[in-house]
Amino acid sequence: MIRLREDNDILHFIQIEDAVEKDRLFQHARETCRQYYGDKIYFRGLIEFSSYCARNCSYCGLRASNRALARYRLTDEEILDCCAQGSALGYQTFVLQSGEDPHYTDERIVSIVSRIRRAFPQHAITLSLGEKSRESYEAFFRAGANRYLLRHETANEEHYRRLHPASMSLAARKQCLFTLKEIGYQVGAGFMVGSPFQTPEALLEDLRFLQELQPHMIGVGPFIPQSDTPLKAYPAGTLDMTLKMVALCRLIAPAALIPATTALGTISPFGREKGLAAGANVVMPNLSPKGVRKQYALYDNKICTGDEAAECRRCLENRLRVAGFTPDFSRGDHAEWNQESHSCKTAPICL
Ligand code: SAH
Ligand code: SF4
Repeated sequence: MIRLREDNDILHFIQIEDAVEKDRLFQHARETCRQYYGDKIYFRGLIEFSSYCARNCSYCGLRASNRALARYRLTDEEILDCCAQGSALGYQTFVLQSGEDPHYTDERIVSIVSRIRRAFPQHAITLSLGEKSRESYEAFFRAGANRYLLRHETANEEHYRRLHPASMSLAARKQCLFTLKEIGYQVGAGFMVGSPFQTPEALLEDLRFLQELQPHMIGVGPFIPQSDTPLKAYPAGTLDMTLKMVALCRLIAPAALIPATTALGTISPFGREKGLAAGANVVMPNLSPKGVRKQYALYDNKICTGDEAAECRRCLENRLRVAGFTPDFSRGDHAEWNQESHSCKTAPICL
């Protein structure tokens, strides 16, 4: 039995080095995942539709001050084409992600989401567009969006301030997440592992915040330096620490949908498979046009930027089967999501 009730219990697992103990943690996390989702791994088609961003997060290659990056925007038609291609490949969830790009006004996002909703009435539409007002989130929801990904990045105030410009605040970020949940979205929070200045205590705060929010999805991936950012000289987060955090997130929010991120696959050749073995249950292959993928440069050396969407799907599907998992292309809603009432019946887990 793995106890995670007290802060010290959690800190112990954040810091364990012993291989046997780590394996026990990973196996317990995978078994917990299996109780809700079996060995299914859900596929989401990711469409990175704009690399312009008005913000200046210190870790991110899309930050506004990065003049070295060639930027791109997809047209509405191109976004719809990506969805059509994704649907033909079997995807039933589209994830539309971008920098915070004012070029895509609320009206335009509403129009894009409405068109996708009309063309694909049964698919899940996930947005990841950053911080917006309640009114904007409501408008996107009414247009047909079902889910929203907004990582909190770090739940420690001082750490948050060191990674972001003064114009951004942890309080605002957290408020967005609670607002999204109230509106009725399935919500994804999350954080980077090994970001500069991160401490074990900050990671504990991340887990405590997730326990409080009980998000439906949790994005946890390693920080990877991007060569045109102020944090370019800092080391990447490690595979080991990321796997521990994936497992602990699974135990803190047992029914959550947790991706084995592309960043995890970037720092280690079998990083994604290892993430799934440590309790993750989602992968997000890229549906963006091949020609623009390299320009969505959140971090250096991102994998899979040279493959067609169909190749990405086939490659990942094979890899997962070899690793003993069952690729699943259904919508893959949260296990306790009640679609009728657009609400979630997840009760806080008492650890
Ligand atoms: N602009 C939106 C969505 C795009 S950024 C937003 O910020 O929410 C998507 C995610 O990429 C961020 O939440 C962040 O956690 C991750 N990211 C950015 N830079 C990164 C880096 N250098 N290493 C790893 N992940 C990074
Ligand atoms: Fe922009 Fe998101 Fe990158 Fe921050 S993390 S600079 S908001 S794209």
